[in-house]
Amino acid sequence: MSKVHNFSAGPGILPSEVLKEASESCLNFDNMNLSLLEISHRSKNFEAVIDESRSLVKELFEVGDEYEVLFLGGGASTQFAMVPYNLLTDTGYAAYVNTGVWASKAIKESKIIGNTKVIASSEDTNFNYIPKGYEVPKDADFLHITSNNTIYGTQMKSFPKSDVPVVCDMSSDIFSRKINAKDFSLIYAGAQKNMGPAGSTMIMVKKDILGKTGRKMLSMLDYQVHIKGGTMYNTPPVFPIYVSMLTLRWLKKHGGISWIEKINQQKADLLYNEIDRNSLFIGTTAVEDRSNMNACFLLKDASHEPEFDKLWKSMGIDGIRGHRDVGGYRASMYNALPIESVQVLVDAMKAFETKFA
Ligand SMILES: *Cc1c(COP(=O)(O)O)cnc(C)c1O
Repeated sequence: MSKVHNFSAGPGILPSEVLKEASESCLNFDNMNLSLLEISHRSKNFEAVIDESRSLVKELFEVGDEYEVLFLGGGASTQFAMVPYNLLTDTGYAAYVNTGVWASKAIKESKIIGNTKVIASSEDTNFNYIPKGYEVPKDADFLHITSNNTIYGTQMKSFPKSDVPVVCDMSSDIFSRKINAKDFSLIYAGAQKNMGPAGSTMIMVKKDILGKTGRKMLSMLDYQVHIKGGTMYNTPPVFPIYVSMLTLRWLKKHGGISWIEKINQQKADLLYNEIDRNSLFIGTTAVEDRSNMNACFLLKDASHEPEFDKLWKSMGIDGIRGHRDVGGYRASMYNALPIESVQVLVDAMKAFETKFA
């Protein structure tokens, strides 16, 4: 089998050693002679998985017991509803920064639950930059931001600091760079971009922000119910949690977030330097807001696309077609993508320039 350079935007690439161990667990988990897929989630073997997953998140984020970690089903999209449902009061309001499709979907859900204000937006230019210089209102129940905008390729390089609880959708850049996790009251991420397979969503929440809405809560949508149940109020997504745990172990073993942040920066520099140097291509976002995870770019002459597509496919590259809202190309460079794959893409762009410029 020849190597595929997997730039998929999500579900995204996972480390090959993680995939190998995960597949072994489907046949014989923990030397039990049983599959992970056929044992009780209450068995001590799986409880060890849950415990390690939760503690790895806290360790990598360097936070203490004032935070709880949950792994729930329903995707990041369910969090769009759960966040305001758990934090928004009758008399208060939620503040949102609108940086794209995902943020807009979060805003839509919050408006159904209660008063919601968009305090900053980059919708005027199809979300090709990150709004800056806005004030976080002091009387909001919470502020919701999106750290990385997967579709447009923009990323917040700094975060608003506030006494108001800051909630962040980190689905597509979680554990890709150092952040000060204590500046956030709630972080959530669908696992399938940068920490595992689809099917589980990680939520890390500061306990003292919960239980203040006065709302009578539906159990499955209540963070406190899931905390009390040790993230096993109902049957959790066992396999996605296990594979996420393996991925976090992989990250820790190789040197943690400071290790991966350096590599992610090298990958991003390599590709963006070529986008800027190459006479045939152009980046689509404000330079200072470029995402280190998803790089979006266009061929200046779109009529060359079929030729370029043929070239990169012949070089073993997969998954760089842009999202339909932006067009062109999007190279997703998640943690598990080796820098060698980025080099192959850069080589393809150089070869294309030699042929067509
Ligand atoms: C993919 C993505 C989502 C949606 O995740 P689901 O798990 O499919 O619900 C939300 N936010 C961001 C930033 C994403 O990249």
